[in-house]
Order: sequence, then C-alpha cells, then structure tokens
Amino acid sequence: MKIAVCPGSFDPATNGHIDIIERSAKLFDEVIVAVLNNPQKQPLFSVEERVEILKKACNSMKNVEIDSFSGLLTEYAKGKKANVIVKGLRAVSDFEYELQMALMNKKLNPEIETVFIMTSSKYSYLSSNIVKEVAKFGGCIRGLVPEIIEDEIYKRFR
Ligand code: ADP
Repeated sequence: MKIAVCPGSFDPATNGHIDIIERSAKLFDEVIVAVLNNPQKQPLFSVEERVEILKKACNSMKNVEIDSFSGLLTEYAKGKKANVIVKGLRAVSDFEYELQMALMNKKLNPEIETVFIMTSSKYSYLSSNIVKEVAKFGGCIRGLVPEIIEDEIYKRFR
C-alpha cells in the first residue's frame, strides 16, 4: 500500500495546493495532507481552521485524509506508515530549498522517498503569501483559493 504525506503550512490553502492533492490522490492509495503546526509563525488561520478548510475542500477525494503535525516530518510519516512525501514544485526558486529538505529527510529516514509533482501552469505563480498580499489590499482572489474561504480571507484583513 502506497501512503503519501503531503505536508505544508496551507495558510491558507490555495487552488495550487488542491491541484497537487488531487493529482497525488490519483497516484497513491492514500494521501495524508499534513498541516504543519509552526508556533514560530503568526498565521492568518489557526491549525484547526486550516484542517477544517482542507477537509471541506477535499471532501470529494475519498482516499485523502487531513491531519496536522509538529516536529520532524519523517517521524510523523513513519508513525502514519507513509513511504512517500509528496511536494509541489513551482519554479527553480522552490528547487534549492526542496532539494535540501528532501536530502535531509532521506538521511533521517532512507525508507521514505520524496516525490515532486510539477505545478499546473495556471497555478505556477500561486502561493499562500501572494494570495494574502493581494487580499490585504482588496485585490481579486477568485479562482485562486477554494470558494468556501474566499470571503473569510478578506474578513481577516478588515
Ligand atoms: P506556500 O509555499 O504557498 O506557502 P506551503 O508551504 O503550504 O505553501 O506548501 C505546501 C506544498 O505545496 C509545497 O510542496 C509547495 O511547493 C506546494 N505548493 C504550494 N503552492 C503550489 C502551487 N501553486 N503549485 C504547486 N505546488 C504548490
């Protein structure tokens, strides 16, 4: 059984994330979307809210589970019996960081393989941060994030 963990901050989830999750769900038997609980960052949405948003947005994907974690990803993945870490790659700028993370995770647990899925061209410029920047100044974020959170994102900046 191929179980993949798809980790990230998801603050907030974007359609770029949903696209990667959807495509992962077709490749693996089970996909666990794992929201990173990072106390050092001041998030727009709490971990619990991010989990709820992802649950709603991925409702139709039957082999996708939403969870949260803190600490080492490899330890979390091992606990979940996952043999794959799946990440999205947008641009060359993602590569350097992701290579470092993938190599370190390989050293920590050689049993777990990191797999990359290329972004869809229509989402290649999309990040949680750029969505927040645009929403903060009232710009249009339609089609960039799941519809269920569009209004809430604007509200958080009011
Ligand atoms: P962000 O970089 O937007 O803050 P996260 O840290 O939550 O997002 O990222 C979780 C994973 O999703 C990472 O592997 C990241 O590369 C990937 N990802 C984020 N946005 C996109 C996108 N638009 N297309 C492909 N992958 C993406």
